Amino acid sequence: MSKVSGPIPSVDEVLRGEAGRVVVARFGHVATLAAVRGALDELRAARGRNSANHSVNRVDAVAAIAARAAEVLEAEDAPRLRRVLNLTGTVLHTNLGRAILAEEAVAAAAAAMRAPAALEFDLESGSRGERDDIVRGLICELTGAEDAILVNNNAAAILLVLNTLALGRESIVSRGELIEIGGSFRMPDIMARAGTRLREIGTTNRTHLRDYVDAIGDESALLLKIHTSNYLVQGFTKDVGTDELAVLAREKKLPLVDDLGSGTLIDLGKYGLRRERTVQDALKDGADLVTFSGDKLLGGPQAGFIVGRRDLVRACAKNPIKRAVRLDKIRLAALEATLKIYRDPDRLPERLPTLGFLTRPLDDIRAQAERVAGPMSRALGVAVEVACCACTSQIGSGALPLETIPSAGLALTPRAKKQSGRQLEALAAAFRRLPIPVIGHIEKGALVFDCRCLDDETAFVGQLGKLAIMPVEAGP
Ligand SMILES: *Cc1c(COP(=O)(O)O)cnc(C)c1O
Repeated sequence: MSKVSGPIPSVDEVLRGEAGRVVVARFGHVATLAAVRGALDELRAARGRNSANHSVNRVDAVAAIAARAAEVLEAEDAPRLRRVLNLTGTVLHTNLGRAILAEEAVAAAAAAMRAPAALEFDLESGSRGERDDIVRGLICELTGAEDAILVNNNAAAILLVLNTLALGRESIVSRGELIEIGGSFRMPDIMARAGTRLREIGTTNRTHLRDYVDAIGDESALLLKIHTSNYLVQGFTKDVGTDELAVLAREKKLPLVDDLGSGTLIDLGKYGLRRERTVQDALKDGADLVTFSGDKLLGGPQAGFIVGRRDLVRACAKNPIKRAVRLDKIRLAALEATLKIYRDPDRLPERLPTLGFLTRPLDDIRAQAERVAGPMSRALGVAVEVACCACTSQIGSGALPLETIPSAGLALTPRAKKQSGRQLEALAAAFRRLPIPVIGHIEKGALVFDCRCLDDETAFVGQLGKLAIMPVEAGP
């Protein structure tokens, strides 16, 4: 740009030039005009005051300004929500968007976007329907619940349940279950915003049935059991199970709400993972309402489920807050398609990417790591050692927090030991700058890429030639 010499071209000249017209055709007049002005400003700034250079080639100058405008517009046009390759080893990574949807769900969502749909319309009678009716039957069939509604996410489900059943009164929770999920989701805060008073009982490590009994009084609205998703209390511990609490809740005529967090519909033990309590288990144990997420172990779109006793679910459905946190037609369509896959449990791992990743055979992952090691080593050259390694994946999103699944991947280690921490950071940054950014994790002096979730090997290998590793500057 600063190489453009001669008098600075006018905006009009650039827009009417051959290259300028191509840019206008692609990005429109308004955006191109702004970008050309920006490019001209840059040129003026670069030249400072000495603009009296007369080695003119006007055609080139005009084309260079148009090219610069196109470059800026191109960069602005790239999606901000970038696709990435999740090689972190965390299958349900909240910061990387959690579950990957099944093809059936993707197709259903796309179809729902393209045409009007009978979202709240009963085609039988021609009268108004309820949007959650679309999936209610399926959810009840799969979980054994009497009734079900859907909201934006599990945080919204808890907000709605507490606001509906415990507004202005007390919700009884064990101190050992007052979780912080990450970001700003802290159970005590959400309870306060829901308008219920938190009645903490027990201690951090031990809560007994008698703590619940002692706390129940005129102000009590419900008992709340919360899955300690992202941590375990170990050692000298005691908590009260849903089954025991259900007996007490029934006796005291209080609803028992069980926030399962991830909420799986299947016995993960069947797939070689550790068994996690299912939604069906919680209902069988006697929970009156169960809440869980759509985009964690379920493997669907972001959503929050409220399932259980009909009178309580109906009360939640009537709360005006339901309207503020309802699900849109796109996600409802994706959710319906996802739930249908559960009707054929034998083929679940093939059809649900989340379960497919979690149950991928180790040999398969190892073979893939060995396949990509060669191209990786060639792309990185002598400065970085590339080795196949054993590593451990985790489910993520607060499901089975301490459960690790044996996996395989690549460990990248800079050979120069000087400033190895900064070299590793530079290496990780180079992978994040690839056309499809690759995200790994740094562990014990190596950048580790867990291959468990590498579903697009061609794209991964195909872009390695574009790696540009910035040299680490000599530090103090
Ligand atoms: C993840 C989680 C939530 C929040 O669910 P979102 O769907 O992310 O809103 C609430 N409670 C528990 C126990 C969780 O694990």
